Amino acid sequence: MSLPNGSIRTATTKSDQKGEMGLRKSGSDPHFLSLISPDPMLPGYRGRFAPSPSGPLHFGSLVAATASYLQALSNDGEWLLRIEDIDPPREIPGATELIISSLRAHAFQWVGPIHRQSTHLAEYHAIVEHLLATGLAYRCRCTRDEVRRTATAIGTTGPVYRGTCRDRGHAASAEMPDAVRLRTGNSTVEFNDILQGQISCQVAESIGDFIIRRKDGLIAYNLAVVIDDAREGITEVVRGCDLLDVTPAQIELQHTLELSEPTYMHVPVVINKHGQKLSKQTGAIPIDDQQPGKNLFSALQFLYQEPPNELINETPEMIWDWAQKHWRPQKLVAKQQSAYEFT
Ligand SMILES: [Zn+2]
Repeated sequence: MSLPNGSIRTATTKSDQKGEMGLRKSGSDPHFLSLISPDPMLPGYRGRFAPSPSGPLHFGSLVAATASYLQALSNDGEWLLRIEDIDPPREIPGATELIISSLRAHAFQWVGPIHRQSTHLAEYHAIVEHLLATGLAYRCRCTRDEVRRTATAIGTTGPVYRGTCRDRGHAASAEMPDAVRLRTGNSTVEFNDILQGQISCQVAESIGDFIIRRKDGLIAYNLAVVIDDAREGITEVVRGCDLLDVTPAQIELQHTLELSEPTYMHVPVVINKHGQKLSKQTGAIPIDDQQPGKNLFSALQFLYQEPPNELINETPEMIWDWAQKHWRPQKLVAKQQSAYEFT
């Protein structure tokens, strides 16, 4: 049995949801939040850009940064920069510095210090241990092959784990490394993406108990991102559609940890002529910091903002000034990917 996209679906789209932007649910659990050390939270819109240092900034990541920056600017909000550097095997030495200098060359302005996930490892592990101690998570010793062979379905993000180790009560063991999985239930996660519309996901059918700490001891992306969005008081997450499929798992985790749920806006990803998402793996070339105006002009074109031609020779500051006044995210409704001939 396979359910490729069976239980995650996009329904209606909303053309303009400005009124809903920046809303947060109240009632965070002080128990879990006490394990995080939240930034001083100010009322109002807070967005972020969170690249991983797996390579320098390319056009696809510039597009995501541009969309999230313009959402923050047009909501009189704050925009934070977070480096997701908790996967050392995928990191390229020096990439963090290259990303930061590219963002500076393009006149992005973030608030406060740059957040580095690698400086928060103790907090992530404390949350994992707390989830284990309260029975909300458990240790799993299955191999990747066993998980694949016994999967109940092929879900939205891969094989759905059968729950083999759920009730085995594995204890920590130096000889037997284990992954830690979140114990999920029969819930349905629903959210209204600003561009992609109403999304509904049956957790048991299409995600299952997912990994929050890997067998190699590394913290899973889904856990770190949820904790950081809560710690930093992020009210709206703007990012590429390639992360739409993992959003239900992140919301499920927010519910388990009783954290507030940001709104989501998934913008189209840039694909190359072979239909692949631009990334370091697909050979995306780094953006040229010597022509920031041209790059931003192209990013705005990709985002259907129709910048006037004379803007192409302007400074990044002038382009941001125009873009902030003319930012119309509703032009991106229901678009999940698009090709762009970047010359
Ligand atoms: Zn297992």
